[in-house]
Amino acid sequence: MSKAIYPGSFDPVTKGHLDIIIRASRIMDSLTVAVLDNPRKVATYNIEKRVEMLKLVTKPYPNVNVDYYKGLLIDYAEQKETDIIIKGLRAISDFEFEFQMALVNQKLNPAIETLFMMTNSKYSYLSSSIVKEIAALGGDISSLVPPEVHDIIIAKYAD
Ligand code: ADP
Repeated sequence: MSKAIYPGSFDPVTKGHLDIIIRASRIMDSLTVAVLDNPRKVATYNIEKRVEMLKLVTKPYPNVNVDYYKGLLIDYAEQKETDIIIKGLRAISDFEFEFQMALVNQKLNPAIETLFMMTNSKYSYLSSSIVKEIAALGGDISSLVPPEVHDIIIAKYAD
């Protein structure tokens, strides 16, 4: 049985993330979207909000569940008894960091494989930071984020 995790900050979830989730869920028996709770990085949306938004957008996909973790990804993967880590790649700029992380994780646990999925060309420019930048300046983010979470995202910038 193929059991994968898709880790990230998801601060907040975008249509680019959801595209990877849907495509990965088609090839895996089960997929856990795992939100990193990183105490060293200040997030815009707290861990509960990020999990809540992911739960809303993944509701139609029965083999997808949402969780969060602290600490090392490889420790979390072992604890979940998962042997596949899914990562999305948008551009060459993602590659160097992800390449290093994949090799480090391979060193820490060679039984766990990192699989990379290419972005959908429609979303190659899209990141959580871009969404927040546009929302903060009062722009329209409706083409960038799933409709279920649009209002939750902009509520942060209401005043
Ligand atoms: P970001 O804040 O840059 O969106 P995340 O940590 O939330 O980053 O991303 C989680 C995972 O999703 C990473 O593997 C990242 O490369 C991938 N990802 C993010 N946005 C996209 C996108 N538009 N297309 C494909 N993969 C993406």
